[in-house]
Amino acid sequence: MLLRCWSAVFGLALSLCCAAAHAQDPFIAARQVSETLQPARQHADQEASVAKRLKALEAKTGRKPNILILLVDDMGWGDPGAFGGGTAIGAPTPAIDRIAREGLKLTSTYAQPTCTPTRAAMMTGRLPARTGLTRPTLTGERVLVSPWANEKSAAALLNESGYMTALSGKWHLGEAETDHPQQVGYDEYLGILGVLSEYTQGLDERRYPELVHNAERMAALRKLSNPAVMAARKGEKSRVVTRLDSLDKVAEIDQQFAAYSEDFIHRAAQAKKPFYLVHSFSRVHNDNFPAKDFKGKSPAANPYKDAVIEVDAIVERLMKKLKDEGIADNTLVFFTSDNGANEDAGSDGGFHPWRGGKGTTWEGGVRVPGIAYWPGMIKGGRESDGLFDLLDIFNTSIRLGGGKLPDDRYIDGVDQTSFLLADNGQSNREAVFMYSERNLTAMRWEEFKIHFKVFQTPIPGSNIDESVLVSAGLSPWVYNLYLDPKEQKSVGHRTFEWGLPRVVGLVGKHMETYRKYPMKDLGLIKPVQ
Ligand code: CA
Repeated sequence: MLLRCWSAVFGLALSLCCAAAHAQDPFIAARQVSETLQPARQHADQEASVAKRLKALEAKTGRKPNILILLVDDMGWGDPGAFGGGTAIGAPTPAIDRIAREGLKLTSTYAQPTCTPTRAAMMTGRLPARTGLTRPTLTGERVLVSPWANEKSAAALLNESGYMTALSGKWHLGEAETDHPQQVGYDEYLGILGVLSEYTQGLDERRYPELVHNAERMAALRKLSNPAVMAARKGEKSRVVTRLDSLDKVAEIDQQFAAYSEDFIHRAAQAKKPFYLVHSFSRVHNDNFPAKDFKGKSPAANPYKDAVIEVDAIVERLMKKLKDEGIADNTLVFFTSDNGANEDAGSDGGFHPWRGGKGTTWEGGVRVPGIAYWPGMIKGGRESDGLFDLLDIFNTSIRLGGGKLPDDRYIDGVDQTSFLLADNGQSNREAVFMYSERNLTAMRWEEFKIHFKVFQTPIPGSNIDESVLVSAGLSPWVYNLYLDPKEQKSVGHRTFEWGLPRVVGLVGKHMETYRKYPMKDLGLIKPVQ
């Protein structure tokens, strides 16, 4: 009975909304310009002024701008000082705070709830349900279908526009040879193909004694995964650069990635070519073993906090490199994290003021720090709560590089160039759709968060290891994030009845896109659903 009522409410709202969408929409609605593109809000003035400034810059520099993405692994929204953490929580972040202060601080930046899905989203502009990369691949896991079959990366598209492209650090988007970075659009890479804990588990006898002290288990593990820093250039097979056979070697890998990124930036500057560099930290994902120069050096003297200050020092190094090469004013830097803090990791996880953590679509799992920095192009001191989905980095990068978006597939990202660059830029994104694997669980619209399915975690902090996903009852669970940022007491239908037609309409339209552009199954679906 309840279900029937809810369907009736849902159906009524949907039909009301569709009718409204054809008439005068009472809200600032996104407009669909192409069947294959996510509808975007139109801001003609900011678009025109930014297009003019970009043209002037290109006339001055003689080339398209560089794009440097600084992607931290599992950093919490509140870890950087600029977002409320830093010195107050035992790990000062002066370099990150400086680029936030001198650039644009984005307080509503959204990732997917785990590593692989976010990386796939950023690099393809497509939701994980559409690319099939719906959850992290596991140790040595070979998926049935190449995740890159029929996908096109931003690196590949920018390459076609004359960019030098590189990945430095963590990949986690396919360990089979066909799926390595140099096979899917990057000119070159140096990094790890999996995730840090995949490597530390075979080395850390305090955390994993039942594995490390059992020769048979170790032999079986080594058949699945051989930890190493790998590298390759386009046309080559990946080669081992450093075998990660000790925790001391694992501890130094982010230093290795930083040196590689500095060298790549130098080479691109020398070649006078624009570059697209994804600098993808292995930090601050558990298990943290900071480099020797950082061990015990944070005020907290804890491995996670030491890893935070190591990340900050590397941000400083890379900013200095851009400046020293004389290309800082022609480089968009975007700093973010691939998902929210991992509460399951305890003191080896990050900080945020939200509910939930990595693995969930509560704010704690998906809301991440976001900073856009570009001296001379982004006015310092800006802050915005406008919506930014990390999917949008794809469209924004292609736009800056003068490339063309593919039109034979659905692109879920939105071009946010004018939002980032205009002095008072407004977000071009109307809503963020949140998924757990193939389930649409929630959405953010304006300052509201609407849940259709919710994560329940009987043991606080066990978000990944011990949660269940259940459908909301008669009404979606709705929170006004300005009044209830911790999502504690749903206002459901009581004070949000007015907004439901719009959000339900947006969901209906979103789900319709799967008819022509369906979800992909790579074999990552669990054996028991
Ligand atoms: Ca992650």
